[in-house]
Amino acid sequence: MPELPEVQTIINGLRQTVMSKTISSIMEKRQGTLIFGEDINICEFGKIESIERRGKYIIIKTSKDLKLVIHLRMTGKLIYEEDINNSSAYSRAEIIFSDKTKLIFDDVRTFGKIQILMINEKIKSIEKLGVEPLSNKFDVKYLENKLKKRKAPIKNSLLDQTVIAGLGNIYVAEILFRAKVNPVIPANRIGIVKLKNIVSETKSVLMEAIKYNGTTISDYRSVENKTGEFQNFLKVYGKKTCECGAEIMKIKQAGRSTYFCEKCQR
Ligand SMILES: [Zn+2]
Repeated sequence: MPELPEVQTIINGLRQTVMSKTISSIMEKRQGTLIFGEDINICEFGKIESIERRGKYIIIKTSKDLKLVIHLRMTGKLIYEEDINNSSAYSRAEIIFSDKTKLIFDDVRTFGKIQILMINEKIKSIEKLGVEPLSNKFDVKYLENKLKKRKAPIKNSLLDQTVIAGLGNIYVAEILFRAKVNPVIPANRIGIVKLKNIVSETKSVLMEAIKYNGTTISDYRSVENKTGEFQNFLKVYGKKTCECGAEIMKIKQAGRSTYFCEKCQR
């Protein structure tokens, strides 16, 4: 599933390819992919004026007071296509531009959605999102406050989008490894030094991953259909042996695989 670095890479690609283009139509290729807002009123889609990220959401605003809110879920991809006649195997919707180029929303598993709303309409799941981890608001005080009543394991708490927006299974594994924190420890029992480590390692892991255009384990591709490179820098996720020589443990937490080193993460 694309996490913050992958979504940010996609946004950087969109800004280079479709910014300022005029949307002439949006075609649904598979029913249920497009979701329209309650008070939607479309005469024209208008010109793309901004492309922003919030958590794992992509928010595209246009000159006609509309916004497209895209969540890629498991396998969603946005592919920029210069030839309007080209498509892709799992095209679910296509955003057509007035210059005869298009953006294909390709999604094998079909969990991804494009919401089309008036610019002021709020989305509950976005309103509830926690802090952006790369912003200054994400600091040790914020984290301490958010975790002080949580008895769930630290790994589950970091995956909770209402605590921190944008983290997923891969980056939480890497963050906890670098911060030397065992993922099964209850969140409210982590001391201030380790909390500081988690904050600083979250920022550095995400920044590095963005620099390498994200992590490609299976489906993820950038807008230009390129893979990320951060998979080459992973220390625990999907690994068998730690750099200390110990075996990497693989357990299940809340139905998801957790990778960690018992020797390095205490
Ligand atoms: Zn180790």
